[in-house]
Amino acid sequence: MSDYNIFPDHATRKTIIDDICKNYSFVRHSYAGKSVCGRCIDVLHIGNTKNRVLYCGGFHGSEYLTILALLKFFEECCEAVKNHTSVYKYKIGDFLSIRGLTIVPCVNPDGVEIALNGSSAAMKYKPLVDKVCTNTYKWQANARGVDINHNFNAGWCALKQRELSRNIKCPAPTRYGGTRPESEPETKALTALCKNINFERALALHSQGREIYCSFGRNTPVLSFRLASQFSQASGYNIAFPEEIATGGGFKDWFIEKFRRPALTIEMGLGENPLPLSDFESEYKILQSILCLGVVV
Ligand SMILES: [Zn+2]
Repeated sequence: MSDYNIFPDHATRKTIIDDICKNYSFVRHSYAGKSVCGRCIDVLHIGNTKNRVLYCGGFHGSEYLTILALLKFFEECCEAVKNHTSVYKYKIGDFLSIRGLTIVPCVNPDGVEIALNGSSAAMKYKPLVDKVCTNTYKWQANARGVDINHNFNAGWCALKQRELSRNIKCPAPTRYGGTRPESEPETKALTALCKNINFERALALHSQGREIYCSFGRNTPVLSFRLASQFSQASGYNIAFPEEIATGGGFKDWFIEKFRRPALTIEMGLGENPLPLSDFESEYKILQSILCLGVVV
């Protein structure tokens, strides 16, 4: 197993992903697209290719524990498939042959790099980052100050009104949704992937709160609530309904509205972002049940 007690910056992710691909020949590695600064957005797949679930993380710069969680879970699945062993309490290989797992561990590679390494990681957008942010370790948006999870085309106009009413009018470290939906290449990369591949359901990992969000408007399928309930029972996470500013513009919202299939936001960990690396192992243990059930049930 790779070492997951490590900050998952771009170079570290590459090492982990290269090792996974080298050790498990059945893994498929591709790219969803590129970030504003040209960093690749990795896609990893294991199991059935016709019937798949999608797990995504790293939407927000300082929420990089979600990246570690997805990569670790994926590697555990690989190991279990290779050796016919279990993850959590499931022979996960049996389930993956029925329902494959695709992960996008880091949707927002520039934002993560800024949170970990400071504004110079934003390359030509460094002046913009410096202008709007003094504490880059809390950075959430992409390199040009657009919050990817406010940039999806679902309830975007209503969200924009709420941003304006809170005086969020221009690029910012968090919660600025851009000038139009899908204005950002990271957002487009993920929507293109979803339009291309018929994912049965999607999980979006964020931090923090140990909470599950499962609904968006009237089109929310009943199964989304049912999954949330099962995830909650297994993990102790609470099912929550978002405060006003957190409604709309998000990936989960778009996935539900576009496909009318289940999508859930999973908020891992407790505390203030960025959560410390020392929280990872204990929080992963709690989250692992949810990640398993997303494939199994
Ligand atoms: Zn987030």
